[in-house]
Amino acid sequence: MSVLAYIESSKGKIKKNAFEIVSYSSELAKQLGTEIVVLAINVEDTSELNKYGASKIIKVSNSELDNFDSQIFSNVIAQVAKHTNSSHIVISSSLDSKYMAPLLAIELDAGYLSNVVELPNNLNPFTIKRTCFTNKAFCESTIESDIKIIGLSGNAFGVVENQTNSSSENFEVSLLNKKITIKSTEKVSGKISIADADIVVSGGRGLKGPENWNLIEDLADTLGAATSCSKPVSDMGWRPHSEHVGQTGKPVATNLYIAIGISGAIQHLAGINSSKIKVVINNDPEAPFFKAADYGVVGDAFDVVPRLNEKLKAFKAQNS
Ligand SMILES: Cc1cc2nc3c(=O)[nH]c(=O)nc-3n(C[C@H](O)[C@H](O)[C@H](O)COP(=O)(O)OP(=O)(O)OC[C@H]3O[C@@H](n4cnc5c(N)ncnc54)[C@H](O)[C@@H]3O)c2cc1C
Repeated sequence: MSVLAYIESSKGKIKKNAFEIVSYSSELAKQLGTEIVVLAINVEDTSELNKYGASKIIKVSNSELDNFDSQIFSNVIAQVAKHTNSSHIVISSSLDSKYMAPLLAIELDAGYLSNVVELPNNLNPFTIKRTCFTNKAFCESTIESDIKIIGLSGNAFGVVENQTNSSSENFEVSLLNKKITIKSTEKVSGKISIADADIVVSGGRGLKGPENWNLIEDLADTLGAATSCSKPVSDMGWRPHSEHVGQTGKPVATNLYIAIGISGAIQHLAGINSSKIKVVINNDPEAPFFKAADYGVVGDAFDVVPRLNEKLKAFKAQNS
């Protein structure tokens, strides 16, 4: 029996959420009295994983796995889970992992719970806390099957350092025949991705037009943040669809989410509820977003945001 932590990567580099997945898996393995095995697919350098408690790293290298394919990846993870006799598989709650998890559950005859936010509070029956109702509530769920798949919510557990000397093994997988071929992918480059960001600065229709997006981008530059937007903003073509967050867009689970000129419709809140601190800037004191905010500024974004940015720049200059 072992805990298998599947970490995601992009172009050979480990994604930031991997360290949280390994930290969580390491603590889970301690609870279960077993070891943690990390699965790294096409990762060039896995040494950083040792900081977070990995006892063994299984490396799979195959150029056919450069692009994510949920059917093929679920099959590869299942092969490794069987090889390592893993009873608990920890994955992220990214969109890719959410697509893949049900297929993996079928491969392993396992139970799967997404949006998990804590270690299990009971091992038998295996009971775990997770968010439900689009992050508006918590619930406790049990997994009855022998093999359990845990989808960890981003930023729910945090990163815990625990230096280890792990062993590593190169594992040869046999790949399924592809049912889908990805012809090309276009990724935004040179910018912080929403999934990797600690801070996200988001703009809504209150910004009036794409020509005003420098307000959002300047503030994001100062804070080292990613930028995002509400659905109508991307529907109108002010911003690319890759920045649309919410129920029908990307989920955001950052440490700090700054919403500027966004009303706070339930479909928007559904995607950002897991963020730890929410700051809202809106000129309407009745905007629903204020009810979900930790901090709110009632004011005109065109006045407040440049002044906030100047203050932050001055603060950074003083403290650098
Ligand atoms: C099935 C479905 C799915 C959806 N999915 C999503 C989703 O995933 N994500 C999403 O975002 N939406 C989604 N929506 C749309 C959602 O219901 C809202 O219409 C949308 O979120 C509103 O976007 P907004 O807040 O940018 O615009 P608005 O509702 O127009 O709000 C603009 C806000 O800006 C403020 N404002 C105006 N001028 C200023 C100023 N100068 N300074 C400061 N504030 C100002 C206003 O007071 C207002 O609160 C979905 C809708 C449906 C029906």
